[in-house]
Amino acid sequence: ERQKLQETSLQPAMTRDGLRIEVVANAGNLADAQLAAKNGAEGVGLLRTEFLFLTRQTPPSEEEQFQAIRDIGLALKGKPVIVRTLDVGGDKPLPYIPMEPEANPFLGVRALRLSLQQPDLFRTQLRAILRAGAITPLRIMFPMVASLEEVEQAREFLAQVHNELAQEGIAHAWPIDTGIMVEIPSAAIKADALAPVVDFFSIGTNDLTQYTLAAERGNPRLAYLADALHPAVLRLIEEVVQAAHAAGKWVGVCGELAGEPEAVPILVGLGVDELSINPAGIPKVKALIRAMASSDAQVLSKKALACAKAAEVRKLSTEFLNTLQ
Ligand code: PEP
Ligand code: MG
Repeated sequence: ERQKLQETSLQPAMTRDGLRIEVVANAGNLADAQLAAKNGAEGVGLLRTEFLFLTRQTPPSEEEQFQAIRDIGLALKGKPVIVRTLDVGGDKPLPYIPMEPEANPFLGVRALRLSLQQPDLFRTQLRAILRAGAITPLRIMFPMVASLEEVEQAREFLAQVHNELAQEGIAHAWPIDTGIMVEIPSAAIKADALAPVVDFFSIGTNDLTQYTLAAERGNPRLAYLADALHPAVLRLIEEVVQAAHAAGKWVGVCGELAGEPEAVPILVGLGVDELSINPAGIPKVKALIRAMASSDAQVLSKKALACAKAAEVRKLSTEFLNTLQ
């Protein structure tokens, strides 16, 4: 049974009524990427580059980053890898970067905010990514975007790095698909303004839920509140999908929610194009997509949006899943 699931997982996933959903993997290192390829991932939807920076005393060199990203890309055998730029700071300090103590690290200088304040660190990472992109297909994604100016600034850095590499005669990918994570409510609400300047969105439901419900992620005493299937979060996801599609862009979900069976039909019903999940979960999620019709998923998602509580959404979704067996 498990082997059969794994074999069919090497094929793309389509709903019963013919809607293709891309199923890709979240990866934090080379081993994840290898498992992703084995389990039928159609690429990596989120490469968390933090692993190259944490647990060390000095920043990784351009060459080191280039090799690590290249090797992860090669493990996917030609399928695209979305490389997310550094998402540290705040609660994940780095010893080699001077950071002021912050009263609210989750609201502080983290992720893209830190990259924009540490130009050398940012440029080195962008150089490594563009160079690796000459060898294996890559896309770039910026984390924790709150506002349009940040995307404009980040794209400016990227264009500068491209010019430098071109002048130095160094092989690199250009142009390169560039997207952002939507994980701050302001970005979801103004997705219409962001859509024209990106190639894709990837919704980070872990942080989007934390910021929407003002409930710290990972705090067990707030777990009852921080449910990504809260209808308020679903409304934001709906808004992002509509804004993206109106501009001809695609939308993925790369938070943990994307791999939860109760969430998959709702996300498909909301029009999400891509699900990025832990490599181990790929065969099951593909099988689930094949078992449902997107028209039924749409009806379910409309009902979910109208719910008042996350618990009601979960109940509706569980009933929906029971009809599939
Ligand atoms: C998210 O916030 O949903 C996400 C995928 O990013 P991370 O978990 O790395 O913050
Ligand atoms: Mg996040």
